[in-house]
Amino acid sequence: MTETAECPAQPIVDRAVVPEGLLAWEHQRFGRVTNDLGLDPATVCALHCAARSLIVELPLIRDDGSMAVFTGYRVQHSTALGPAKGGTRFRPGVALDDVTALARLMTWKTALHGLPFGGAKGGVDCDPRDLSSRERHEVTRLYTLAILPMIGSDVDVPAPDIGTDEQTMAWMFHAAAEAGHRDPAIVTGKPVLLGGSRFRAASTGVGVAHVAERAWEHLGGTIAGARVAIEGFGSVGYWAAVELHDRGARIVGVGDITGGITRADGLDPVAVRRWIDDGHDLVDHPDADAVEGSILRIDCDVAVPAALEGTLTDEVAEALVARLVVEGANGPTTPSAERILHGRGVGVVPDLMANGGGVISSYFEWAQNHQRIPWTEADERARVLERLDRSWELLATVSPESWRDHALGVAIRRVTDAMALAGRVSSNHRRAD
Ligand code: NAD
Repeated sequence: MTETAECPAQPIVDRAVVPEGLLAWEHQRFGRVTNDLGLDPATVCALHCAARSLIVELPLIRDDGSMAVFTGYRVQHSTALGPAKGGTRFRPGVALDDVTALARLMTWKTALHGLPFGGAKGGVDCDPRDLSSRERHEVTRLYTLAILPMIGSDVDVPAPDIGTDEQTMAWMFHAAAEAGHRDPAIVTGKPVLLGGSRFRAASTGVGVAHVAERAWEHLGGTIAGARVAIEGFGSVGYWAAVELHDRGARIVGVGDITGGITRADGLDPVAVRRWIDDGHDLVDHPDADAVEGSILRIDCDVAVPAALEGTLTDEVAEALVARLVVEGANGPTTPSAERILHGRGVGVVPDLMANGGGVISSYFEWAQNHQRIPWTEADERARVLERLDRSWELLATVSPESWRDHALGVAIRRVTDAMALAGRVSSNHRRAD
């Protein structure tokens, strides 16, 4: 296995030296796995290139009458297995590189879980916390209208991600409807009243908890009583904490943008949420000790990075006490940190496996919208967890240090086979060594 295999897609992404960051990490991992799969250079290029990328400018008249212009992006990486699918983030610094890397990750994620979707991602470079509700609504409306030519329930289906939520999806749905696209399946993650799924909000975090239990059992542990630290207490981190707590795990630490807190006999995630919802900073929680630096480093069995990409650095990896990392976020572990973890015998369940519950639930929302028949929350939850189990069975056949490459390999093979069936790559796509 070559570590940084020469990737024939390199000239296409136009980088002699790929800068550090999500795109570089995705590039490295993709290059290694396609090399191991023995794919020929033309197929590798076809797999790697994004099908469509759009950059839009969004001029907003602010509440005080001043003008601000935000930049938005939508990247469709692949539609080989079905309509492109992926979240929308509103976050300062969102840029084409990251959105492209995340769109690719979506392609591999939907393929791994056997969904009839490709991969996409979108976002706006803005800080939603600095915008009033009217301004957020207006940015969402402008963004939706700008990307409308390339989205649609059978083309590309956005969903929420960092900085966006079901309100954002309701605004996107309405902006599209007012422009004549009255199809609830055009976005997922909508409020239930507008055709959203009853399980979508909790689905990613519950799925992360479910996969954490499977992986921990695989390593010989029992989730009841296991000590878990979670970085990020938003949509993914919170629901992962609630579900793991319900399954008997001890949530010994949680962290967010304000800092981290720990409590050896375990935190009640619902009570912590209430504290934050009452207007306090997590780090000021009265019944826990504040933690300096990454919460992932505290004494625990399972560490769940569920905040941002790149938070599990070499430094954190060296200091990690946990025996298992379950990636709730997209791209939280850098490749070099992952090497350190593997060297120390720590298993890393990759993002495309661990946080797949969200897109599986989005798929079921999309299916319900097409059927015009809502399912019960229990039915959807059972189906999401069953899909995750099926995907987990694929990973459970290989050693922990191969989990990521194996998951990527399965996904890349499925996309390649679909492209070959459609005549978009040669059916003989193996490299002549
Ligand atoms: P969110 O905005 O709801 O929550 C993000 C959390 O991370 C917040 O608690 C925030 O305070 C915290 N945070 C931000 N910066 C931090 C820092 N420097 N250190 C520690 N904590 C920090 O976002 P989310 O929807 O929960 O998404 C989190 C991650 O999961 C992202 O990588 C996202 O792409 C991924 N993801 C989300 C979904 C979904 O359904 N929401 C699905 C799959 C993957």
